[in-house]
Amino acid sequence: MHEAQLLTYLKLSGIRVGLLMNFNVELMKDGIRRRVLYSLFSVSSVPPWYNSLMKTVIAIAAHPDDIEFFMSGTLMALKDSGHEIHYWNLANGYCGTTQYDTETIVRMRREEAMNAAESIGAVFHESICNDLEIFYDKPTLAKVASVIREIAPEILLTHSPSDYMEDHMNTCRLAVTAAFARGMPNFPVDPARDAIEQPATVYHAQPYSHHDPMRRLVTPDLFVNVADLLDRKTDMLSRHKSQKQWLDESQGHDSYLETLRDLDHQLGEMSGQFEYAEGWRRHLHLGFCGLDDDPLRDALGERVIAAS
Ligand SMILES: [Zn+2]
Repeated sequence: MHEAQLLTYLKLSGIRVGLLMNFNVELMKDGIRRRVLYSLFSVSSVPPWYNSLMKTVIAIAAHPDDIEFFMSGTLMALKDSGHEIHYWNLANGYCGTTQYDTETIVRMRREEAMNAAESIGAVFHESICNDLEIFYDKPTLAKVASVIREIAPEILLTHSPSDYMEDHMNTCRLAVTAAFARGMPNFPVDPARDAIEQPATVYHAQPYSHHDPMRRLVTPDLFVNVADLLDRKTDMLSRHKSQKQWLDESQGHDSYLETLRDLDHQLGEMSGQFEYAEGWRRHLHLGFCGLDDDPLRDALGERVIAAS
């Protein structure tokens, strides 16, 4: 059955969830594509059996609080639309302090990040690098690729390929290659896991300040309306208490919450439609997914508009 047909049947029948089955795959779950009509129905009545078929999303960022700034509203919206969401900062945030020793700040930032992830119902993944030491190297790539195979994300959210610091750009490169290698059995991952066939669509968040390192403005392909999620975003960010304290002292009270609002407001203005927005650019499909695959847009419906 084709996708358009399925959506028509859903609309006509008033059924909320539809599954596209493709039996020509090794693992049953890889052959199932889910389509849901969110705009017409509440999302509170997903049957229990359905969880095993849940689509997953992973946000892979560099530092504790990057997901909060650039990706969290989209993650919340995807969670609300029935996706299982995963939260991963590759670095431990140990440079984000002038008052704590390394051991103390690593423990604090881990707890803060776990708390932030829990606040939106995300699965937390442990950091694997120090700040300023996220390198595009084989051991790190093998670890990132293993997680991609483990959770088989339909949607991968990560940093912009061009961003203001190397940790962000290296995180992006690692995430992209890890997704690219998901179906290559000869590529060794750590810990070892079987290759997977499932498509993964990669989306890049906005760079910090919406500019690349050469000071050029970066405009997204897709805008996600986060006006109604802004309080939840700032609540999530404020859970990074050690950063709040540090930035309050160096840059003024609640400056980082203001920065989050300002960045989202700038994108809202760019969208011409929303008051606050997050922005995404979809990675070229080659090696990742189908030409027209755009699962983020499919999942979020009216919350998303394309750049004109
Ligand atoms: Zn960062």
